[in-house]
Amino acid sequence: MSHLADLPAHELARRIRAGEVTAVQALEAALERIQAVDGAPGRLDGDRNEGRDKVHAFVTLTEARARAQAEAVDAQLARGEDPGPLGGVPYTAKDIFTVKDVISTAASRILSNFKPPYTATVVERMEAAGAVMLGKVNLDEFTYGSSNESSAYQPSTRNPWDPSRVPGGSSGGSAAAVAAGEGAISLGTDTGGSIRQPASFCGVVGLKPTYGRVSRYGLIAFGSSLDCPGPVTRNVRDAALTMNAIAGPDRRDSTAATAPVPDYTAGLDHGVQGLRIGLSPDYDKLTFFNHDSGKMESRQMPEEISKAVLDAAEALAKQGAEIVEGVPMVHTRYGIPCYTVISRVEAASNLHRYDGVKFGYRSAAQAKDLRELYRRSRSEGFGQEPKLRILMGMYVSAAQYSEQYYRRALQVRSLIRGDFDAAFAVKGAYKLDALLTATTPTTAFGMASMYGDSVLMQFADQLTVTANHAGVPALSLPGGLSAERLPIGIQLIGPDFSEAALLRIAQSYETATAGAAWRAERPAVLAGA
Ligand code: GLN
Repeated sequence: MSHLADLPAHELARRIRAGEVTAVQALEAALERIQAVDGAPGRLDGDRNEGRDKVHAFVTLTEARARAQAEAVDAQLARGEDPGPLGGVPYTAKDIFTVKDVISTAASRILSNFKPPYTATVVERMEAAGAVMLGKVNLDEFTYGSSNESSAYQPSTRNPWDPSRVPGGSSGGSAAAVAAGEGAISLGTDTGGSIRQPASFCGVVGLKPTYGRVSRYGLIAFGSSLDCPGPVTRNVRDAALTMNAIAGPDRRDSTAATAPVPDYTAGLDHGVQGLRIGLSPDYDKLTFFNHDSGKMESRQMPEEISKAVLDAAEALAKQGAEIVEGVPMVHTRYGIPCYTVISRVEAASNLHRYDGVKFGYRSAAQAKDLRELYRRSRSEGFGQEPKLRILMGMYVSAAQYSEQYYRRALQVRSLIRGDFDAAFAVKGAYKLDALLTATTPTTAFGMASMYGDSVLMQFADQLTVTANHAGVPALSLPGGLSAERLPIGIQLIGPDFSEAALLRIAQSYETATAGAAWRAERPAVLAGA
């Protein structure tokens, strides 16, 4: 653990500020780690099977840019200036955020030549806080997926705990990089679970903030009413520090909330005495439509995952929390079908702008007119997943079907929000401060084991997608290891703008379990590092 690349962001920032190490040394340590574990970066037409024992988190390494940033932090310190709360801390950004003059691909051929003329607000704010960007990390194409395998940039990312498995997705590059010590923090995005599901699979902390808490400016859009940028880190305090840097209003995003931003680190150690934490039977099973029988079916969660949730409840109860059992969240089962409709409609709408004219990929073939230019550029530029989502989005929002699908999905979305309103209502029957659930119904699955089965793949998000519908914040944190020594994630969901409380509960759990045997285990790829 003495390697600089494994230090928490808050400890690394402290050492840099105290002059014990320089920002350049911290950068060198991160680059050395990348060299040791990452292997070839993802690239267009790359080989899916290359370097099967490596992480492949990166699409683009921005070493020269990082070096200039790190040197600037060291120069500030030498002049006696404050480099910011994340001064000199190496981080990565999911390649769905624009960074001025750095290729920003969304892991799609259609943006493979896109050098944005502007930088995403979250990236700007990380850098204003002194953080040093190592590069852009891989994801499912346009964030459409739960495994990273749909990236047009191959080899796609592998799970540092077992490289024969997926890291989860779509922020798989973010979660894998952080787990493997390739940067202390990563910026991810979550539309249906894309921060929390990979965080769970890779044994790290991931926070999906309240919708609007963090600006979407410069985020290449998927589902604009669902998308939330947020932090991926190795510990709870680093997630709080990152939120301090990135949260807040933004005049360039009219949906960014103007509510005041608290200091998320302030109450972290105040414990959970008197907080009400709920458990719901509706999050302890998977409910889905069986196409063969034509009926809804339920399956219990795997024993070891249910147990991790109960163990966490017990640990929190010991710290003084009040555990409330049997909270009904009856519309949870409609989260995926409802998301499948709404997110496809928004995706299809957002993908209209890629037409080969103003920016992005343009077909080299001679086109006889504008329509053909659009058609060729889009056919060649988009991978299979965006094409499927455009087709479905156009279908369910078409005049003759929208009443039946799109409008209905919006109505069900309100019912899901209603479950949370009832659970969190200050004068309600449950008065919860947070709901405690598993993050995912399985641990990390094998590469190629589910890819192509979009129905099975969607269950990966059944427990996370409801928070996106409702707009409420949700945090995933490590809650143990399975018998196969794969990370199990537990999730805390709270009312609007309750990030500080979620972080505080998470911190209490993290502290209470600090001595647990599983906490000492490290990802397999770090064996020799
Ligand atoms: N796995 C989900 C999907 O494919 C969620 C992705 C996300 O949150 N961006 O749509």
